[in-house]
Amino acid sequence: MKTVLLAALLYLTPNVSSNDNNTVYISKGSSAYAYHMKKSCRTLKRCNEEGHVMAITLAKAKEMGRKPCKVCYN
Ligand SMILES: [Zn+2]
Repeated sequence: MKTVLLAALLYLTPNVSSNDNNTVYISKGSSAYAYHMKKSCRTLKRCNEEGHVMAITLAKAKEMGRKPCKVCYN
């Protein structure tokens, strides 16, 4: 019985936190404040060219105080 419960928990857990485990993209620039859903976001274009874009998890982006990009998340 215990095994069944554990299996159910393992099965359910990823769904609960899946959002925060999503990959988002941020610019490493100090003035950057947003995280992006798409690496091809037009507001990230310049950063992409300079190689300053970094892929991280949504949870980490929130932890850093980043806000959702208005272009990606509208
Ligand atoms: Zn964006």
